[in-house]
Amino acid sequence: MNILHISAECFPIAKVGGLADVVGALPKYQKEIGATSNVVMPFYNNKFTQSNNFEKIYENHIDLGHEYYNFKVHKLVDTKLGFDIYFIDIPSLLYKGYVYSNDDTKRFLAFQIATLDWFLTFEQKPDIIHTHDHHTGLIPFMMSHSIKYNSLKNIPTILTIHNAQYQGWFSHELVNLIPPFNFEKVGLLDWGGTINSLAAAIKCAWRVTTVSPSYMEELKLKANGLEDLLNHESAKCVGILNGIDWSVWNPETDNRLFKNYNTSTVLSGKKANKEWLCKEFNLDSKKPLFTFIGRLVGEKGADLFPEIFKKALNENNISILLLGSGHKETEEALTTISKENFNTFIGYDEKLAHIIYAGADFLLMPSRVEPCGLNQMYSLRYGTVPVVNSIGGLKDTIIDIETENGFGIVHNGVTIEKVTKAITKATSYYKTEEFKENLKKIMEINNSWGNSAQEYVNLYKSLKN
Ligand code: ADP
Repeated sequence: MNILHISAECFPIAKVGGLADVVGALPKYQKEIGATSNVVMPFYNNKFTQSNNFEKIYENHIDLGHEYYNFKVHKLVDTKLGFDIYFIDIPSLLYKGYVYSNDDTKRFLAFQIATLDWFLTFEQKPDIIHTHDHHTGLIPFMMSHSIKYNSLKNIPTILTIHNAQYQGWFSHELVNLIPPFNFEKVGLLDWGGTINSLAAAIKCAWRVTTVSPSYMEELKLKANGLEDLLNHESAKCVGILNGIDWSVWNPETDNRLFKNYNTSTVLSGKKANKEWLCKEFNLDSKKPLFTFIGRLVGEKGADLFPEIFKKALNENNISILLLGSGHKETEEALTTISKENFNTFIGYDEKLAHIIYAGADFLLMPSRVEPCGLNQMYSLRYGTVPVVNSIGGLKDTIIDIETENGFGIVHNGVTIEKVTKAITKATSYYKTEEFKENLKKIMEINNSWGNSAQEYVNLYKSLKN
């Protein structure tokens, strides 16, 4: 079975969030179970593309309305990624130092059209086209209804929704950017009077998955306007929990850490990483260290952080370290917190994130929306106890210590009081002998991709019969 994933992000080439981690790992695990699984993504101007070798394998031009753009397809040479990766290179639109910006409609439409134009030239067509989020959401529609892609019509398409908040809306005035299609089908592009790429994908993909079972159920109730559509299409929808890349996220071999460790050396290993962090960020390593890594947006509960942190620091003898960036008001409000037991790194830093997973005692995830969440799984793998709101993938992966077989701290709802209370509960837990035993236990919880990769392959197979 030959699967092609089409995505705006893929780790380690270009990462904004969890989408990159998934697309950078799933193909590798699908290969391990006998499928051929590769990735197509845009060619951005970044460290990875500047420092690796590529082979040009195709060249042509696309029509985008009345504009012509030349494009090339490059293949990464000598890939150590565990799968092949192909890049769509459209210099004036895609070769930028960022992944997302405010002209994404044109950029990602061009990416999708060039990808399909290239597929038309394949002698052996892929068995499955797997699209991810709204940036690739017009592919199922174009494959089914654009005249020039008629020969791709019978290839099953999958859409995975990593985040339904962002939907790739654009005005009907731009409909002529899409290659000519049977105009009776224009309604498939529309949701609420505007073109909605994610809605079009939900309508046209053969199957729709979300990155956790709970997120699928939650979307049917609240999906930024798409809930009725998801209910209507529920027969083809299924939630499949993400895994994590067991080889990248391994505290025993992770070369980004200050000190490596395994379940036998977890206490000394974590201590060394914690001391490095505390020295770097001027914190007291004797206090329990609470951390947050991620985007500073409402979905993650970030608007409440300044008040939560002030209250939690007031009421508990703890330190807090935050790594992330996002809404400017939140970033500014964080600077008003006393620096005594608190510090931040505003920005994106992959290496620092790894050391934080290793050196922290607790990882805070008071998310209001969490489609799957990978951070809690990384934190378990590195022996750091997650403190999470019971939502989406967090609900599917973390059990509270007060429940049988529990190992994390779970709160129900996101308010300043509820999150602070969970921090206080974690602080008490930190003082117990059970806390230390739990670290070994959580490191062994298997959240690797094995099972989920198989679930995807089973889904593909059901479409080929
Ligand atoms: P998202 O909603 O942002 O996709 P996920 O939990 O699915 O959230 O994935 C987040 C991924 O991005 C994790 O690998 C996390 O470590 C990483 N990440 C987020 N923000 C930062 C940051 N500021 N620096 C380094 N890594 C980050």
